[in-house]
Amino acid sequence: MSLFSGRGKRGFGKIEKLDTNEAETKNAEVKKEETVDKSSSDKSAAVKPAAAKPKVEEADLLFDKTYTCPVCEKDFKAKTIRTGKIKLLSQDTDLRPKYQNVDSLKYDALACPICGYAALSRFFKFVMPSQVKFITEKISNNFGGLPQTGGAYTYDDAIVRYELAIENAEVKQAKASEKAYTCLKTAWIYRGKAEALPEDTPDYDKVVKELNEKEQSYIEVAYAGFDEAYMKEDFPLCGMDEPTFSLLVADLARRVGKFEESSRWISKVLTSRMANDRTKEKARDIKELIDEEKKSQQE
Ligand SMILES: [Zn+2]
Repeated sequence: MSLFSGRGKRGFGKIEKLDTNEAETKNAEVKKEETVDKSSSDKSAAVKPAAAKPKVEEADLLFDKTYTCPVCEKDFKAKTIRTGKIKLLSQDTDLRPKYQNVDSLKYDALACPICGYAALSRFFKFVMPSQVKFITEKISNNFGGLPQTGGAYTYDDAIVRYELAIENAEVKQAKASEKAYTCLKTAWIYRGKAEALPEDTPDYDKVVKELNEKEQSYIEVAYAGFDEAYMKEDFPLCGMDEPTFSLLVADLARRVGKFEESSRWISKVLTSRMANDRTKEKARDIKELIDEEKKSQQE
């Protein structure tokens, strides 16, 4: 569990929130903006000669929200996504959502700038007294604050918060599902950073490779954690019903090269009476990816 230990630096200052997994994005904010604008959205937007709309600044999609820290009980302000203003463009096979103009995942790890408590927004409020004690002893006592940020977070600002959230999850002995979900979203942040990396970055290829390796290491921990959560915890897990969860784990298994396990999770989805057609279709997509990867390995 090297991911949970050995990080020396702690400290930095400001916060945010926004949750995003398939279950939530489906019924919440994301869809409603859309309809009128379909033709000019997504892929076609780049192609159109475009009566160029003024560019949306990421900071315009954020507001300062006040949170009360459940560990030190102080209030702090954090940048938070205006969920009604963001539009879901697509999802990766592991359900990572991609929004127009902003990677809202950057704002999903909340960190208290006073005591160093951090968690994904969906878990932030829920801390038991024994956990407060662990966090105070093992995190707050060594916490040196958070670094200043601008009006919007950089990926590195987000990474500081996510890694602090992972450390907190470990210290407070969170459930396997919470640890796994926090690692999964951390992996997504590294993926986002790699995708957004400017091409003129020095040593571009090397930096991307390092980011991909970071992502992969968090995916591996997430996969193992979800596998454990499946045996020990009840649904819904992190807001996911069983078919959605199985779909996610199928893809994580594929990403870590465990094709047999992945196939078992895919079968669970395909034979589930609870799974809708869309979920089953996505499971078949993952199956296709596995077939392709197997084929390319044989060549
Ligand atoms: Zn606090």
